[in-house]
Amino acid sequence: MRLAERTKAIKPSPTLAMNAKASALKASGVDVTNFGVGEPDFDTPEHIKEAAIKALRDGFTKYTAVDGIPELKTAIIEKFKKDNGLHYEKDEILVSCGAKHSLYNIAEALFGPGDEVLIPAPYWVTYPDQVLLNDATPVIIETDEKNSFVVTPELLREKISSRTKAFILNSPSNPTGLAYEKKGLEEIAKLAIEHDFYIISDEIYEKLVYDGFKHISIASLGEEVKQRTIVVNGLSKSHAMTGWRIGFTAGPKDITKAMTNIQSQSTSNVTSITQKASVEALRGSQDFLQTMLSEFDKRRKYMVERLNAMKGVTCKTPVGAFYAFPNVSSYFGKKFNGTPVNNSLELSTYLLEQGKVALVPGSAFGDDKYIRLSYATSMENVKKGLDRIEDALGNLK
Ligand SMILES: *Cc1c(COP(=O)(O)O)cnc(C)c1O
Repeated sequence: MRLAERTKAIKPSPTLAMNAKASALKASGVDVTNFGVGEPDFDTPEHIKEAAIKALRDGFTKYTAVDGIPELKTAIIEKFKKDNGLHYEKDEILVSCGAKHSLYNIAEALFGPGDEVLIPAPYWVTYPDQVLLNDATPVIIETDEKNSFVVTPELLREKISSRTKAFILNSPSNPTGLAYEKKGLEEIAKLAIEHDFYIISDEIYEKLVYDGFKHISIASLGEEVKQRTIVVNGLSKSHAMTGWRIGFTAGPKDITKAMTNIQSQSTSNVTSITQKASVEALRGSQDFLQTMLSEFDKRRKYMVERLNAMKGVTCKTPVGAFYAFPNVSSYFGKKFNGTPVNNSLELSTYLLEQGKVALVPGSAFGDDKYIRLSYATSMENVKKGLDRIEDALGNLK
């Protein structure tokens, strides 16, 4: 078989092997605590489901406009105005099959051979591979836990070149759960304007914030930065709608048009009934969010406290998303029954096999010192899983 060159550039997800192992263990009857999940453990709110059922009953089951039904685009425009103080026109909005698809459309519309795309690490696993799939080069910026994993202007300047096409910003972040304050965003915006590159701002976790944190969209910092920013958002995380496949972008007209053309030749419109449900998600009651958030918040506090109380583990308190990202590197080199664990993958494998806890090694996110634990699982599981991790770590000598 002679596959396209680009298929060789991307690697299979390092998390897949772990997932396969966890599933195999479960299938063999072992009770595995799953801290690997990347989606809310809540069901989609009832009123959103009802809107989808109504759409089905009404026969709303045909192709729609590629870029989204006008009603939904209007609801998205309202959302940007209300939440972010941003004003967009309909031809600056594109509705896609999940925020991941939105990001992919952007990559196809903007990147090509010779382009460099700045990605701060730890990063969401998908970013570098989408850059590679479009023949461009991911340029990783390593950040520091001491600085809450924020990209400082110094770090950014070091990596900017004449080939820099874009910077991918993810705040609040998956995997760290940390987020940018206004000052940090202003510094990035300034450099983007000065060096003429785009900002791709993945704001999928904007609603999942704690301790009174105020999310700011970098696009809202001024007209100049808005003109070079494509904001990515969606309902997967905020409305527990991962399976519905709905995401959207807001950005300059010319880029939106190019992305729409690409989508028109690939997936066409998002599922018609999902679009109707999404109108309800955006316009209907938002009460569900508070319920979900207060539950996440309890687990977050508990998890971070427990992790920091474990010998040799440090964990920054996340202000967003539903992940904890502890530094576990003090365990590297220690042994269990004579076998050493030397990196995050080996430690994660050990925690799965000996501790019966599934989680994701930091290497998947471009930083090997860490592991990612999702608290999108019941408090009971959170407690059980942390007990197991503590015991297993204690058995490493
Ligand atoms: C979950 C996630 C997405 C995409 O989710 P979709 O289901 O495709 O909308 C995008 N970015 C980050 C950082 C995520 O964690």
